[in-house]
Amino acid sequence: MKGLARTSKGKIGWVEKDRPVAGPRDAILRPLALAPCSSELHMIWGDMGDYMPPDRIMGHEAVGIVEKVGDEVRDFKPGDRVIVPAITPNYLRVPSQRGFAQHCDGMASGMPFCTQKDGVFAEYFHVNDADAQIDCFPTA
Ligand SMILES: [Zn+2]
Repeated sequence: MKGLARTSKGKIGWVEKDRPVAGPRDAILRPLALAPCSSELHMIWGDMGDYMPPDRIMGHEAVGIVEKVGDEVRDFKPGDRVIVPAITPNYLRVPSQRGFAQHCDGMASGMPFCTQKDGVFAEYFHVNDADAQIDCFPTA
């Protein structure tokens, strides 16, 4: 699949990667609408910490359509249109359950898109713990 990545500090470009794989509680989505924000620029230039390795796919906010879900996902199925927020923390961690989801496993760890895994500017993207992260998109 293709994705728009930070290829090196200050540079972006298209990269080719394998499709992401869903774990039991995860979902794989295709983007319908993307929401680039100023954080993308900071990530490209390393202004907020230079934690993006080369060829990391960018993007951390999207509306998408569910392509595949893991065996334990209960609230979503392929074909559902959903909203994906920037913050998708590990809600199984105690700090998350106490209200510190953004930094549950260290500074900014609640936003794994771009910092710990590929983001949403791709043909497909991965959402961890789908039942806890995504929300239905209202349809007319
Ligand atoms: Zn943002």
